[in-house]
Amino acid sequence: MRRPLVAGNWKMNGSREITKTLVTGIGSDLPGDCGIDVVVCPPYVYLDLCSDLLGLQPVSLGAQDLDIHGPGAFTGAIAADMLLDVGCRYVIVGHSERRSLYGESDESVAEKAAVATARGLTPIICVGETQEEREDGITAEVIRRQLGVVIENAGGKIFPQALVAYEPVWAIGTGLTATDHQAQEVHALIREQLSDASEEAAMGTRILYGGSVKPDNAAGLFAQPDIDGGLIGGASLKAADFLGIIKAANS
Ligand code: PEP
Repeated sequence: MRRPLVAGNWKMNGSREITKTLVTGIGSDLPGDCGIDVVVCPPYVYLDLCSDLLGLQPVSLGAQDLDIHGPGAFTGAIAADMLLDVGCRYVIVGHSERRSLYGESDESVAEKAAVATARGLTPIICVGETQEEREDGITAEVIRRQLGVVIENAGGKIFPQALVAYEPVWAIGTGLTATDHQAQEVHALIREQLSDASEEAAMGTRILYGGSVKPDNAAGLFAQPDIDGGLIGGASLKAADFLGIIKAANS
């Protein structure tokens, strides 16, 4: 039985004040054992503050990216050990914004996933097709390529510790959500591909859906057999909406 997980990706949003309001808002209404894993991924500079604010709350901390190198002369970069040092357990790798705006390749995403896992962090590995790729009918091919490089280069053994997030690029921040059926179809393909790694990887890996998830569409998505929770962008910046999504994952 895979335990559902809901992660909030705050992207480049927030301030010290907003971080305090948001974390307090989430914590005030979260049951002690809410039956699912909850993760928040603030910008690097607020990780430490978030870690202090979370205290004993049943919410884990995640980062939005990491560098593959160890500490040293890499100006502007953040190492896995630093993330662990401020209390992170999770790290998002290969978000479509990192791929499209910062030129991250399938190979560098695989390398980040490998380093994160080796250092004891749980990577949330994002894959997803663009609108054009979907219209061209090559969604399965794109996902297969992105995940295939991870399985080959990082090694199948990173699963089921590592998570996969299916995030159709056309659904991120657009208000367009994949239908329950469209999302389930791709999640099933991902699970099937994970069996190339091992049967344990296929059965145990949590596959999240991301792309304009809101409290009112979350329940339908999370009811699908291969959807084990969500990676949430915009709606994770409002405590009430994020809590609504957590509730949907827990029902
Ligand atoms: C994301 O950026 O990971 C995401 C899913 O964003 P949104 O929920 O805003 O579409």
